[in-house]
Amino acid sequence: MAYRITGACLGCGGCKVVCPAEAISGLPEQMHVIDPGRCFECGVCARSCPHKAIVDSAGQPYVSKIIRQDVRGR
Ligand code: SF4
Ligand code: SF4
Repeated sequence: MAYRITGACLGCGGCKVVCPAEAISGLPEQMHVIDPGRCFECGVCARSCPHKAIVDSAGQPYVSKIIRQDVRGR
């Protein structure tokens, strides 16, 4: 399975630049596509997309795993 770009893509090209597998292609201002044969599901593209247009193999958009520390009482 691979990550996938949805119709929310505006073709900014940002994901294409950051993908370490060179799995993303597309023309400026047109919907980009991910080559499932090259994608190894690192998630970098999904984190970089300003339009949340990239979903994982389960169809879920990127959700930050960072848990905010509760510093109250310190
Ligand atoms: S970063 Fe998002 S909007 Fe930009 S080309 Fe990639 S999928 Fe499309
Ligand atoms: S998940 Fe990683 S390898 Fe797959 S298209 Fe996105 S940046 Fe490239």
